[in-house]
Order: sequence, then structure tokens, then C-alpha cells
Amino acid sequence: MEDPVLANIRKTILTNIPPEARLKRIEFEGPYVVIYVENPSFLVQNSFSMKNIAKILKKRIIIKVDPSARLKPEEARRKILSMLSPDAGVGEKDIVFDDVLGEVIIKADRPGLVIGDDGKMLKQILIETGWRPKVARKTEIESRLLDGILNYMIRESDYRIKILRSFGERIHRSVFFKNNYVRMTALGGFREVGRSSILVETAESKILLDFGLNPGISTPPNMYPRIDLAGVRLDEIDAVIITHAHVDHCGLVPMLFKFGYEGPIYATEATRDLMVLLQLDILDIARREGKPLPFTQREVQKMVLHTIPIKIGETTDISSDIKLTFYNAGHILGSAMAHLHIGNGFYNILYTGDMKFQKTLLLDRSDYRFPRVDSLIMESTYGATVLMDRREAEAKLIATIAETIKNGGKVLIPTLSVGRAQEIMLIIRNAMIEKRLEEVPVYIEGMIDEVTSIHMRYPELLSKETFAMFKAGEKPFVHPAFKIVKDRSAIYDIVESKEPSIIMATSGMLTGGPAVEYFKHLAPDPRNTLIFVNYQVQGTLGRRVKDGEKEISLPDENGKIRVIKVAMRIESIEGFSGHSDRNQLLSFLRQMQPKPKRIILNHGEPQAIEALAKAIRREKPVPSGTEIVIPSVLDSISFKIG
Ligand SMILES: [Zn+2]
Repeated sequence: MEDPVLANIRKTILTNIPPEARLKRIEFEGPYVVIYVENPSFLVQNSFSMKNIAKILKKRIIIKVDPSARLKPEEARRKILSMLSPDAGVGEKDIVFDDVLGEVIIKADRPGLVIGDDGKMLKQILIETGWRPKVARKTEIESRLLDGILNYMIRESDYRIKILRSFGERIHRSVFFKNNYVRMTALGGFREVGRSSILVETAESKILLDFGLNPGISTPPNMYPRIDLAGVRLDEIDAVIITHAHVDHCGLVPMLFKFGYEGPIYATEATRDLMVLLQLDILDIARREGKPLPFTQREVQKMVLHTIPIKIGETTDISSDIKLTFYNAGHILGSAMAHLHIGNGFYNILYTGDMKFQKTLLLDRSDYRFPRVDSLIMESTYGATVLMDRREAEAKLIATIAETIKNGGKVLIPTLSVGRAQEIMLIIRNAMIEKRLEEVPVYIEGMIDEVTSIHMRYPELLSKETFAMFKAGEKPFVHPAFKIVKDRSAIYDIVESKEPSIIMATSGMLTGGPAVEYFKHLAPDPRNTLIFVNYQVQGTLGRRVKDGEKEISLPDENGKIRVIKVAMRIESIEGFSGHSDRNQLLSFLRQMQPKPKRIILNHGEPQAIEALAKAIRREKPVPSGTEIVIPSVLDSISFKIG
């Protein structure tokens, strides 16, 4: 017998859908209720009936057309091309069909023209071809990764629809337990930075928020979130939510699949793409350094198929008693804060992930208004620090680069591939255009280039001004001085050249990647400068260099350990951080609506968290009765029992 909730959803649709739609079947595909009809043109006259159904059910509803009533792909392609303006920049090859899901993917130079006002064109395409359109933006820099992900998903769509339907039945089933409780367990990233993960449990569901690794530690158990001690089996977990694509938040997601997780991953589309890139890079680095692999490419692929992309601001059922809404976190492209609405409002949790409550060139500041918040889980990375003003930081960066160039030296900027690199590119580009900086070659290593291309794919997630540049046809990530380094052996020409240059390479904490190779070559020459532009986690090579170590042992290309003398100038400019500093965290709390009853501080070294807690008590950005909790890894907090 069918679950009563599922049966009730079917009944509501059957009684409310106009007969001319010619309903064929109703399926639960992931968080969506999908209605297959033979005649989608009922939407022209009767779209209010769909709105009505969605309102009664409080579910996300999607209309698809039964395969028997769809145009053949060739015909549909011709039809779509005839409907679109040539300005949309859609060619024949840009239209790809997914038979199983009944979707057509349309790649466009100007997606807005395929969407139309209020999605009018999308609706028209559905009605006239029977294919449900999805639009993707073409990018200036070609991305093999993005094409690879898309083609792979289409190839595996039989598998995708199968798992989506199994998720669907689990998500929409009845609430079984009458007693209520909400509890969280800190699995990683509490009183520390790295391996972020939180388990949220109700009587009905178990959810993981983030699943990262600690880049400063290379041996278990402190490298991984402590899911092994949390008392749950991976097959009991209903959903995994990823806030953003930094390794300390998403680096070990594929490992979950290796050990038996079969459920969905919720993330923004940009986070999905970036996270694949980072995980493949983790594998690449581990392989090159002869370290054991925590997972394989197979699990990364499986993760792609299990990921359900969620837009910022959309509310989605992720289990029978939890709804997820993402809010803008302002931290990196695609970053989100996760709002959990539990048991029809029984309890509400906001998890900030990493967040920036200040505008940058690249991104707008984080959201601060939410529907309801009982507990706020807030990052505290810079809880003890007031960062340099952004404009000052920019000026210092440009001045430091200019001095180094004048002395005939080279500048090495180790960057996290995601976010900071693109921000620095925008700053350098502006300075060169405005003649505040001499035009010298800026070598940008391959992975940063891939990431930049993903930024071009989702410009609507960038700051208003940067998005406006895209819309005006400008290319904010392109400049004649930018040289993309594709070939690893190019490093020798670059370091041996007499010419001054700027080198941007990963990883941002010198934990591996080309930045370490450049560092070995450039460190002994006092004319050169290394500029850190992001946080350095304890235990990383970056942190040791930043803290002033002058002799560093590192293996050379033959694996022999050599002592590197650090004579180059070392600068650290933390004003670019994608994290809020103490003042920004306090001002977020001051402006946040509504105020939380309880604040749980995480993602910070102990002194940073203590300092932030003290500052909150002293400056009272929230009412003085607000509870402040500072859990350690493996602590559990019971939020509410009813
Ligand atoms: Zn982050």
C-alpha cells in the first residue's frame, strides 16, 4: 500500500488539475513532485490551477510532458532555434536532449533571452516541444570540466531518475514518530578550523551539514569529521548539505559514498562544479605525493549523480520533517548559509558556513534577514581579529607588487583556487587598466583558470557590479597580461626568466600544488616576494612560512629532502579574507532579523572563539539573555524536546 502522504498528494493533484492537461502519471523525483501530462498547453490558459496545487500541497511542482507527446529531438531542435533570437547565441550543437528526464539543455551566450520575461520563453518551449528546458551559460574560457559534468549526467540519466525517485519517496513519506526532538552533534570544525561537519537529528531524519577535511593534518583521526563515533550508519542519513566548495567543507564528500552513503547531496550548482574540481585536485595531489587516496574518481562521479542543485532563496523538502533554504553567504562563488525549518516550524536552525558580511569586488555581502531562527551556528575564524580595511589591503597589495617589480623580483601569490584568486585577478586587472601597476606577465596556473571559467558560468552569483559588467559584454577576468599556464614544465622558464612577473598558483596554504614548486625556486632570492592573501591553517607550510621559519625542508623532484633557505620577502595581507572579521561578525548579529535565542560558535581556533564570545557579551549585538555555546568536537546539543 502506498504511503498515505504520497497517496494524498496524488489525490490533491487529480482533483485539481484541469482535464484538458491529460494527466498521465505523477512521480516523486527528488524534492520535486513531477506531473507528467500529454497536453502542456493547458498552462497557457490555466496556469493558476498549478499555482493552486502547489499552494495546497506546499511542495515544489514540476510539469513534464509524457514521452509519447514530445517532438522528436531533431524537430524539437529546429523548433527551438526558430523560436530564439539569434542574439541568444544558441547553435545547433548547443541543444542537447536528455530522454530519460525529458529535459533539453540549451547552452546560450545570453541565457536571459532563452528564459524570457518571467520565464515566458521557457514555458513556450515546453508547450511547443514537450521538452522541459534548462539553460546553461556558455563561458568565455572553455571548460572541459563543465562539459564533462553535463555529458556524464546525460549519459547516466537512467541511474539518475532511479535514485531521484527513491529519494522522492523517502522525502515525501509520512511523519512517523509522534515525539519530537532536535539535536546536533559537532563532528568537526569546532574549536578548530578544518574538517567542518555537523550532524542534525530529529526523530524522523538525520542530516549532515558539510563534510570536509583538515588541510593542516595529514593523518587520521583528526583529519576527518568524527562520523565514526557519532553512532549513525551512513545509510541512515537522509541528506548531506554542502555550504560551499572549500576543501575543509566538502573535501571528503566522495568518501561518504565509498563507505555506503546512497542519498542526495544538496548544494548550489556552482558549488557542485567547484567541488568536483577540488576533489579531483585532492586526488591528483595525493597521487603525485604518493599518499593514500581517501576516495577514487568513481566516488566523485557518483557524488555528481547524487547532487541535487538548489538555488539561493528556494525552499526545498529534504526529508519528511526538514525543509532547507539557502541564503547568500558572500564567501565564495556559490556559497550558501543553510536554514533548516524543522517539523513545521517546531525548530529553526541557521548554519552560516563560512560567511562574509562585507561587500567585495567579487561578491555581495551575506544575507541577514531570515524567516525564523532559534539556533544560529556561526563561524568564528576571525573572531579575535580586526582585518585591514579592504581598500587599504588593495593598496598594500599593489604597492608590494610594484616594489618587487621595481627591484627586478617576482611575486608569488599562493591562492585558494576558488574565490580569492578571482578577487585578486579583478584587483590586478583594475590596477593595470588604471595604470597604477606596470603591465608585467601575470601567470595564472591551470586550475585557477578552470575555476575562473566556472565564475563566468554563474555571473548572476557575483556582485551586482561584476554581473553588470558581464551583461554589458565586458570581460572582467580577461586581460592581455594574464597568461594561463597549462603545462607544468613552464615553471622553469618562468622562474629563470630575468623579467619580473606575478605568479598566482594553488594551493593557498602551500599544502601542495604548483605554489610549493614556485616557492622552492623563488624562496632563496631576496628580490622576490611571497604574498599570502588568505587564512593559513595551523600546521600548514603556509602558516610556518608566515610565522617566520627561515629554513624549510622539502623534497625535490627526485624525492630527496633539501633545505630551502627563505630569503624572499614574506607579506601577509588578510584584508582580502572571504571571512567576516570580528567587527563584521558583530555587525551581522546586530542587523540579523530575527535574533536567535542561542548562538553556537564554531569554525575558529579556541582563542578566536573565546574572543568572539567575549565581544558578543560586551558589545551586546543581541539581547543579553542570548545563550552562547562553544562546543568541542563530539559534543551534542539537544535543542528541543516536545
Ligand atoms: Zn570557506
